[in-house]
This record gives sequence, C-alpha cells and structure tokens, in this order.
Amino acid sequence: MKYVKGNPNGGLTPLTSAWMHKLLEHPSILNQLVAKYGSPINIHNLSSFEENIRNYQKVFQSHKLKHKIYYARKANRCRGLVKQALSTGIGVDTASYKELLQSLALGGDRHNLVLTSAIKTTEQIELAIKNNITIILDNYDECKLVNAIAKKMEKKAEVGIRVSGVYIEDQKLYSRFGFDIEEVAAFVESYIGGDKELDRMEVGGLHFHLDGYSIEQRAIALSSCIALARGLKQKGYSISFIDMGGGILMNYLADEQEWKSFDENLRDSVMKAKTSLTFNGTGLGYKMINGKLEGKLDTYPFYNRINGATFIDEILNYKAPKTNLSNAHRLIGEDIEIRIEPGRSLLNLTGITVAKVAHRKRDSKGQWLVGLEMNMSQLMSSSADFLLDPYIRYQDYTEDSEEVSVYFTGAYCLERDILLKRKISLPQLPKRGDLVVFINTAGYMMHFFETEAHLFELSKNIMFKEDVTDFNKVTFIDDNLITKD
Ligand SMILES: *Cc1c(COP(=O)(O)O)cnc(C)c1O
Repeated sequence: MKYVKGNPNGGLTPLTSAWMHKLLEHPSILNQLVAKYGSPINIHNLSSFEENIRNYQKVFQSHKLKHKIYYARKANRCRGLVKQALSTGIGVDTASYKELLQSLALGGDRHNLVLTSAIKTTEQIELAIKNNITIILDNYDECKLVNAIAKKMEKKAEVGIRVSGVYIEDQKLYSRFGFDIEEVAAFVESYIGGDKELDRMEVGGLHFHLDGYSIEQRAIALSSCIALARGLKQKGYSISFIDMGGGILMNYLADEQEWKSFDENLRDSVMKAKTSLTFNGTGLGYKMINGKLEGKLDTYPFYNRINGATFIDEILNYKAPKTNLSNAHRLIGEDIEIRIEPGRSLLNLTGITVAKVAHRKRDSKGQWLVGLEMNMSQLMSSSADFLLDPYIRYQDYTEDSEEVSVYFTGAYCLERDILLKRKISLPQLPKRGDLVVFINTAGYMMHFFETEAHLFELSKNIMFKEDVTDFNKVTFIDDNLITKD
C-alpha cells in the first residue's frame, strides 16, 4: 500500500494540507466513499474553508476597517460551504435565482446576502426585494425594472452601482459590466432618489469586479471609487460601502522554480516541436507562427508569491498619487465599509477530487493512457490545463516496479477528453481500482463547467469537519443532505 505524487522528482508540486495526506493514508475511507457515492467524488474540508475566512477577517481587522466578506458561491455548487460561510459570520454573493433562494433557505438574510447576477430576471429581483437583499446594478434597464418591481411591491430596493472603466495610466480599463465611472455621478443625481424617476431605489454603495488578477488595477479602482463615493456623499447620498469583488490571487504551487522551469520547458518544446511534454504537443497557448514563438500561457497563474491576505493588504496600503493617505485610511476617513466577494481564494485547500482507474492501454504511439471513471467537465475551468500534479493511491505497490509516463483520459467520447494535458510520470503503472486524487479543486474545477453529457450523473460532494483527532471517526456528509439546521 502506498501513495505517491505524480512526477515524484519535480513536476508541478501542489501545496497540500495535512488532511489530504491523512485521507491518502486511510485508503479504506476513500474506497468506502467511492464505493458509496461513485467516481469521481469531491471531498471538502469545512474547517479549511473556515480558516481561510478567518485569515481574510484578520487583514481587515488589522486595518481597523469596517468590512464585509461575501463568499462568491458560483465558484462551487455546494450547500455546505454556504452554510459554513454564514455560520462563520460572513455573507454570500449570489448570482442567480436558485443561488439566492437556496442561500436564503440555508439561513442567509438581508445582512449577509448580495445579488450580483450578470442578467437579472424579474423573479430574481422580486425575491431580492421581498427579502431586502442588496442588488448590484449594471445598467439603466435593470434600474428601471428594479424600480418598477419595488413600486409594485410597495417596497424600497437597496442597491449598489457597479462601476467600470477606471483609468489605469491614461488607459481606460474596458469591461462589459457596469456603468462607466465617468457617468455614475451624473446618472445617480439625475435619476435616483426623492421624486426622480428611480424613486424606489436607495443607493448604499459602489461595486466593481475586475477581470484578471492585477493588484495595481484593483488598488486604483478602489481609490477612484473612494473619490466617487466622496462626491456622492457631498450631494447627499448615503454611500456606506465599496465592494471590490473577487479575483484575489491564490497560490497553488509549492515551488516557484518548478513553475518557472515548466514554463521554460513548455516554450522550448513548442519551439522545437517536441511532443513529449503535453498531449499531442499542445502549447497551452504558446504557438509557432512563421518560425516565431507567439502567444502566452493560457492558464491560471498557478504560482503566486503574493496571494490571499497579502494581496488584499497591498490594495489597502496603496496610496494614489497626490494623496498622502492609503486606501485604508481614506475608507476610514469617509466612514465607508469595504466589501469583498472572493470565490476561488476562499476555497484554497478546501477540496479534492478522487477518481477510480477504469483501464490502462497503450495507444498507437506507444503512450500509456490511464482511463478514469470521470469526465473532462469534472476537472475544468477557463484555464487551458490544471497545472498541478495529482496523487496516486495504489492498492499494491512493489518497490522495484518500472517507472512509466501516462496521460489520464476521461469518459466523454471526445478525443480531447484528456483530464490533464501534461504527461505525468509515475513509479508504477496504476491498476484498475487504484485512485487518482486531484488536489485543491474546490474553486471552479469541480462544478463550474460540469455537464451531464451521455447522461452521466453529476459528481457527488462530500463534506466533513476536522472536529476529531482520530481520522477514522470523522463524519462524512453528502452535501445534498445539508439543510439549515
Ligand atoms: C466571479 C465573481 C466573483 C468571484 O471571483 P473569484 O475570482 O472567484 O474570487 C466575485 N464577484 C463577482 C461579481 C464575480 O463575477
């Protein structure tokens, strides 16, 4: 009995938590769970999630800031995480009718839920207004609809205005979302409050969520919003919060040098048209055009020295040119609450995906393909590949076995259902029934693109808490069975 990391002598070593190793050391637990719930299963540790929440709370406390954290639940489908977020004292960012409805049923209310959906339906808005949930607004049509629904319900609507188009070094940052920052003040003044057209709306704050992961862009956007909020307050609007959305970088990898070497090796193999590193020599974004290497690595930036709490700290410490005060000090000066909506980064080290080996085969190129009982949609994000080495839990392992390199393949009838595009070297060829464990998959990897093609069932989600010292006594719960009480 043994477990190993794929690419034992290098590769892309993932950061892991003690609980992941404990599970790998208890194959009977893993086997029982897979036998009961099928393959693949997603196992979540709610205690890790709670620890991430506490770490974010500490950053804001250290700046003495009024703050609110909303867990962006679109990053993972599970109810257990919503319940845990609420019971740890943070809120939940919802982006659809069902996300909102279910979060309400799990104990959420006006103090800890926000609705930020990109497309807002009448039923979403009705549900939000009925429960006095803050709605983040993106455009004038939406404002009119919200106002009309509030009027019909004889209620007020609590809203925030989504802002975009801030200037970064004289360049406007484009986004398809939100109101242009230069138009917000005039729009609010012309339309909102009193006896104006949008008389049922109360603007409580400003909101932005930027694409990408730039600290600088977020720092400047926050600074610009503080200035905008100040102007609106002078006009008599009670702006009490600025929400800077999510996109807080997370670090997945243990070693910066491995990350750099991987990138160099990938570029080198694309330039030399080698096919030994990735399936069919895919460049994951790099390509040769007229004899020149073009493109960029089209994946999440898996290694990040600055991440999580330190990422937020840098945004708060930023001082805009011509101001002597940091963003944090200006927020305090204006008595504005800072809000964030992290999805991925709150799920750091919270989940793993475990799949069973179904078969091994050699293809016509002589490559080993290891078929798993799972499909590509169950380990998929917008990233071109998941650049973390998986772990293998062998049933039988012999020390003198022969090293092999493999690709893991999935159940969809598509040539491209290759679960990891990188070739993974292993000390022994896995057998049917061995388990492959993908690390740190809770943020987006498990659910965001999961589909039911071939009528395959959605993967099962299991929750547990590290509330006992003996791992054999841990209780694992099917997420579907989680309710408010
Ligand atoms: C996606 C999204 C988030 C969460 O982003 P992460 O990268 O998972 O932190 C937060 N707010 C809004 C409005 C979003 O669209």
